[in-house]
Amino acid sequence: MKTMTCRQLGGPCELEHCGESADDVINAQDKHLKAAEKAGDSTHQEARNEMKSRWRHPKKSLGWYRDMKQAFADLPES
Ligand SMILES: [Zn+2]
Repeated sequence: MKTMTCRQLGGPCELEHCGESADDVINAQDKHLKAAEKAGDSTHQEARNEMKSRWRHPKKSLGWYRDMKQAFADLPES
């Protein structure tokens, strides 16, 4: 298991997401951003909008995924 924070994934806070793969933590971040939006948390709105546009334009977003996967791969196992 590895841990990435909301901030490492482009968000504004230090909430930690644990996962076996980069996809796990990206999905956890997506859920976290959705929940924040629902709660009316404006600090997460920009990150939420970016994540939404990634789902809409997956090809344009490949660079971001690659960066996140690389960042995840570089993390020490916890
Ligand atoms: Zn957050």
